[in-house]
Amino acid sequence: MVRSAVALDGPGTATESNPDKQPAVQLIAQDGDLLSNLDDKVQVAVAQPSYTVRILYRSRGTPLQDASDIWAHMGHSGWQYKLDVKLERQSEDPQAWQGSYLIPIKQLSASWHLETQMVFKGLVGGHERWDNKGGSNWTVAVEVAPGVGLVQALNPTYASTRELTSSLLLRLEALVAARLLTPEQGSVLRVLAWQHDMGLIKAYQEIRNNKDERQVAGVLAGRCSWLRPPGLNVVHIASEMAPVAKVGGLADVTASLAKAHQASGLLTEIILPKYDCIKYDDVKELKKMATLHVPWGPDPNRTIETYVWSGLVDGLPVYFIEPNCSERYFWRGKFYGEPDDGARFSFFSRAALEFLAQRQHEAPDIIHCHDWQAAAVGPLLKETYRASGLARTRAVLTIHNMAFQGHLNGAFLQHMGLTPRAAHVTSPDIMLDGNAPPPAPANNSGNPYGHMWLNLLKGAIVYADRITTVSPTYANEVLGEEGKGLQHMLQRHRHKLAGVLNGLDYETWNPATDPCLPAHFTSEDLSGKRACKAALLRELGLPFDGVLPGSNGHDSNGNGNDSGSPWGPNGRPLIAIVSRLTQQKGLHLMKAGLKAAVAAGAQVVVLGTAPDPKDQAEWEALAKEVGAGGDARIVLRHDEAMSHRIFAASDMLLVPSMFEPCGLTQLIALRYGTVPVVRETGGLADTVRDVAKAMPEHEKNGFTFTAKDAPAVEHALQRAINAYRDGRTWWQQELMPRIMRQDFGWTQSASTYQRIYNEAMH
Ligand code: ADP
Repeated sequence: MVRSAVALDGPGTATESNPDKQPAVQLIAQDGDLLSNLDDKVQVAVAQPSYTVRILYRSRGTPLQDASDIWAHMGHSGWQYKLDVKLERQSEDPQAWQGSYLIPIKQLSASWHLETQMVFKGLVGGHERWDNKGGSNWTVAVEVAPGVGLVQALNPTYASTRELTSSLLLRLEALVAARLLTPEQGSVLRVLAWQHDMGLIKAYQEIRNNKDERQVAGVLAGRCSWLRPPGLNVVHIASEMAPVAKVGGLADVTASLAKAHQASGLLTEIILPKYDCIKYDDVKELKKMATLHVPWGPDPNRTIETYVWSGLVDGLPVYFIEPNCSERYFWRGKFYGEPDDGARFSFFSRAALEFLAQRQHEAPDIIHCHDWQAAAVGPLLKETYRASGLARTRAVLTIHNMAFQGHLNGAFLQHMGLTPRAAHVTSPDIMLDGNAPPPAPANNSGNPYGHMWLNLLKGAIVYADRITTVSPTYANEVLGEEGKGLQHMLQRHRHKLAGVLNGLDYETWNPATDPCLPAHFTSEDLSGKRACKAALLRELGLPFDGVLPGSNGHDSNGNGNDSGSPWGPNGRPLIAIVSRLTQQKGLHLMKAGLKAAVAAGAQVVVLGTAPDPKDQAEWEALAKEVGAGGDARIVLRHDEAMSHRIFAASDMLLVPSMFEPCGLTQLIALRYGTVPVVRETGGLADTVRDVAKAMPEHEKNGFTFTAKDAPAVEHALQRAINAYRDGRTWWQQELMPRIMRQDFGWTQSASTYQRIYNEAMH
């Protein structure tokens, strides 16, 4: 154990004319480690009989964090004299507590020598609790005489301490001017320097000659780290965010998880590409905030001028990355599906890190990267940006869909600043894509790594501190076939992997307030749902309760005339599909289900988009086949508002996915009283429980099937249609209100993510 300053000066007398004759006070130990090693003992040699001990205690992260009252329990001269000093909570930081005590001369252990030991106690929920681990969370200072101030000499000669303090004050000015410290940090540090804060001066003495201003700022900022807010600072790097840039569920999750965390005290920010096709109407206070020069190109000296825009989306702070380059990376009129997607999003990842490394705040605690589009952040953070002020920052990766992994030609190692580590990074255990066919020779361009592909998601798996998938069942499935070639990597990194079920943003998806709906409803009063159904059927040109729209058979509230309907008082079931129309979502089962439902007398509405032109053509043909006069409508576009109207209006939602990492549509359906009919896979298996299964009634909420063939989906739909027709009272009065009340919000999952963030920090 090393003591920080042991030398004791003899007594002196302070005079105004001779400041060097200040009474000398030597703190032998003040800093956290030393205090704990000293059994929380502070020894001070004082040159004046009258002195006050001032105590500053920070309760954050201690057993006394939630205490209503706190006392410093002090003992002088080997606990010969004991007392409790009640501390006052500081108004500017409720977890900082202050107190002071004027120590009578008789309590000195020897002439001019104070020795104090200290532990803390407090009342938590009416019970007494102790914090006697000591050390890093408290400091004492000794005021030698009223008005003289706090004097704690570091060096034997007061003049050198004075010079050190002055140098520190000037350095602080410069660091604030260079925006390496915030003005708040600057002013707190200035006060500490002025008070000759031992820890600060000592820390400065050690780094005074360091020319790296960023490092100096980091060390000094650490001395007032208690200025930090209580929660973590989390930055999401993602390619989608609802409602401004949405392709699928990823967009919903980015927005709603960030919202849930913001509400629970985390500082949450989001970085997105500045696509030309963003819904700019939904971005408030958009402004150009900074210009960066992001290194990017085969030539190590090439940089891309990049603008960082800031704006508010649904109350969240968002930064948009806009490169000003010939590649026009985000000026494509669409989000994905470009031949250079790998390069577009790797650039985005690098620019996001460049922004975080250069901005004038402390580095974030956590960077939460989503899917392959932000996967390059992992290797970049750990290999390229570790030395740029982001060494403390941890990476959490969420895999929303293993089917998309992101491929990048090896020639881009140079762009990413990874060439010096190329041999390591391109090994099969790290980022080499063993499964992709070799790049076309044209891509090689003489680059030594141009003949290989990198797998971005694989790199993220390797470098992430924690990995999550979006449901517990999918977390298991990706260790097998659903790992889509990366299962062995995931098995190797299994200790970092967890499945956290996505929640639903109950503010956006609320049938009682949803602005997209023609009528509102709750689990207590479902009449608005019926009005929504009538309105949608009319919009789609489908008959309502056996009465054709436009006839006099129903009024505008949807109170239909049921004459002629074989279905009884509330009409035929309306079955919906709202989905990307891709193989993953079970195209063949959707089509089989649609036909079977219509044959069974139900009505069907499909809202979807097919990224594959072949699928698109097939759906267009099917739309024509079911025609304007039949019982099904197929709407082939992305239409957010219409999706809300469909969820509200329908009686059932069909989700027959081949695999489903989590799935949000079944959760939306439940919230809107629309009974899900799903294939049991991934998150669908975690959230939908068949009404026929042996389990507590209150957990049941839908109809499920397991096989991937048409009879399975047809059978499940038939069961649902029969239950709707034959058990109408049960359906309307029990099942619908029950599923609407089930909780699939973010509360539980957001706190699981917080736990994962905390684990990543340690
Ligand atoms: P994925 O992310 O795999 O597409 P999810 O079920 O997780 O599937 O999320 C899909 C999201 O996209 C839901 O919010 C759903 O309502 C929405 N969505 C899908 N297709 C459309 C569409 N054509 N128009 C509007 N919203 C859609």
